[in-house]
Amino acid sequence: MINKLLAILREISEILTHTNDYNVVLGDIVKILSKDLEVEVCSVYVYDKQSKELVLKASDGLNEESVNVVKITPGEGLTGRSFKKREILNISMPKKHPHYIYFKSTGEEKYNSYLAMPLTVSSKCVGVLVIQSKSTNRFPHEVVDMVKSLSTQLANLILNANILDELSVGDNQPIADGLQEGQIMLRGIAVNPGTVRGRACVFATKKFFEGSVRGATVPPDEELAFLEASIKLTKEKTAKLEEHALSMISEIDASIFYVHLLFLDDITLINRIRDEITGNHFSLEYSVTLVFKEYQKKFLKLEDQVFRDKIMDLKDVLLRLLESARQIKEGRTEQAGLTPTDDKMVLIAEELLPSDLMRMPLDNIVGVVCERGGVTAHVAILSKALGIPALLGVKKLLEQVKDSDDIIIDCHSELLYINPSNEVSQQFEEIMSDSEDLDFVVDKRPVTTADGHRIKLRGNIALISETSLLAQYGAEGVGLYRTEFLYMVRDYLPSEEDQYRVFSRIIKEAQGEEATIRVLDAGADKPIPYINTTSEDNPALGNRGIRLLLKRQDILRPHLRAILRAGVFGKLKLLFPMVTNIDEMLRIRQIITEIENELKAENIDYATDYKVGIMLEVPSTVFGLNKFIDEVDYMSIGSNDLLQYTFAADRGNEEVADIYNALDPIFLHILETIGANFRGIEDKHVTICGEMAGSIYCAPFLIGAGIYDLSMAPRMIPKIKNVISK
Ligand code: PEP
Ligand code: MG
Repeated sequence: MINKLLAILREISEILTHTNDYNVVLGDIVKILSKDLEVEVCSVYVYDKQSKELVLKASDGLNEESVNVVKITPGEGLTGRSFKKREILNISMPKKHPHYIYFKSTGEEKYNSYLAMPLTVSSKCVGVLVIQSKSTNRFPHEVVDMVKSLSTQLANLILNANILDELSVGDNQPIADGLQEGQIMLRGIAVNPGTVRGRACVFATKKFFEGSVRGATVPPDEELAFLEASIKLTKEKTAKLEEHALSMISEIDASIFYVHLLFLDDITLINRIRDEITGNHFSLEYSVTLVFKEYQKKFLKLEDQVFRDKIMDLKDVLLRLLESARQIKEGRTEQAGLTPTDDKMVLIAEELLPSDLMRMPLDNIVGVVCERGGVTAHVAILSKALGIPALLGVKKLLEQVKDSDDIIIDCHSELLYINPSNEVSQQFEEIMSDSEDLDFVVDKRPVTTADGHRIKLRGNIALISETSLLAQYGAEGVGLYRTEFLYMVRDYLPSEEDQYRVFSRIIKEAQGEEATIRVLDAGADKPIPYINTTSEDNPALGNRGIRLLLKRQDILRPHLRAILRAGVFGKLKLLFPMVTNIDEMLRIRQIITEIENELKAENIDYATDYKVGIMLEVPSTVFGLNKFIDEVDYMSIGSNDLLQYTFAADRGNEEVADIYNALDPIFLHILETIGANFRGIEDKHVTICGEMAGSIYCAPFLIGAGIYDLSMAPRMIPKIKNVISK
């Protein structure tokens, strides 16, 4: 069934990318469905808000003249009843049903079985999908399940009906004809569920330093007084930000904001601003802008990239200073956020590094949209960790959005609306309030397949704060803790003690279940500026993961010491990324032994009964699996990278997203081979922690391949459980 479903979904996606006319799209979809589901009739009824009727919008099988003519009020007949009660109706001999109503123009009297599927998004019903057949049998449950799975896709499509006939979604070109002025719709790849609305905050192209009035309107001493008051207020805001960041992300330390405070106390910098105010009678805002530009030039001439990057911190703090000045001059008392926009901001950027996101006022950010990046990009993983809906790979984004634009992100239909019309806004406001009301109860019991196989579902996390999600979504421990973020939130190497503190918490909070700590996987799409200092032509094929750590044992050794020490608090599994050959593995083993000896000699407690594993993410480890197996206790499939390296397709490049396909039969065969290698081996096991483990389409294949230990973003667990139990 799943193959068929996927084939249908693929066909529908094809239509969506090639056709802009909503009515044509619906017409094509019903044709596909009746053909693929092997039924005589497939029809779609769409609810029209104006007339409050269900209108037959498309049909393959019923008489053509009835399309747009047959109209049903909710509750009327079987279809109206299915809509009103949001009920699936699967009926044989519908003509005999007491609620049946006959519409002569349709020619439906010939059909003896009837299935009505309400089309709902969140808790809103937008129409009904009906299939009919001549057979007198009710539709089998496989067909009902399949129609149910397809109904969400269709419901989302209909939800955008009012917009789809106004706008084109083809190639992310805004359409002028018939478009409400300023309203634009773009398509992207959703990396987190949800629908959110906020004000655009354009990351790379902020223009806050532009447009300030040159001359001061008050005497210099008064302007200077404004400056002093603004500095004081900015310090207070910075302290609040620091406090807030600490509560959000425990891995962070004060360093980022400490740097900001240093700038505010830097006498040379502040005196330069004062000089402009007193010497040239410039306004405070203009003086800050001038001095920023002067410093920017100086910073950019610095040789060291790490120092050059500090300009971002200066910019950050000076923007906050400008905002404080505005706040004081306008007599506002409220604490504005980091930027002069809203408390609900949608971050817009060409590309975001996880560290960029970390530095944002996360409480104010309701969504993230990037021109580049795909589902496995690390900013996507981090957005998932933070529960922020994100759309990536949105082409021509920066051409279309400007600061403060009204933005709606709809991750269900993978669409972005810029300055939506009133009608569109209203629709989404309804959906957003509907979904807020949803009471979601999670079944936390362990899961088995219908035929009794026990499947372990664990959580992928990147932040301490995410450990609370483990219990919330019923994860059986941590299947992957990405240590990279601990390094990314700092400007320098965390000490062994810093690391020990964080790892101890992760392991304790796994509450007796296994906690897999992956050693630092810096490089490629997770560059850490103070570690990856040389630029590489192909960083994904270069110095990343264990390759880098074996060269930088000054980083590896304290890291491993911290992990082994923290291991005493629970069941530790050590995991090594980007392992490529046996020699690396032997060297890792040797270093671990040396570290154990060191800790023993120093009389420091450390774990002794932990497991050692490697990521299966480089094809050589799959081909050489029989060799690696002797050196490890377990292996964890890093399908994000394994796919990238198998198909030579960049995981973050949407141009090759079609090639980067977890369901390609070749990749499924690889998974099957991996599963087969572990069959019958008692003391070794295989897990998977790549994103495909959290996909409802992929999980059944993984289990089919004999992989029974799946780790994913905790929020995905309930859905995967549901699929597995069936
Ligand atoms: C993977 O490659 O599948 C994986 C889990 O690691 P990361 O996404 O952090 O590279
Ligand atoms: Mg990886």
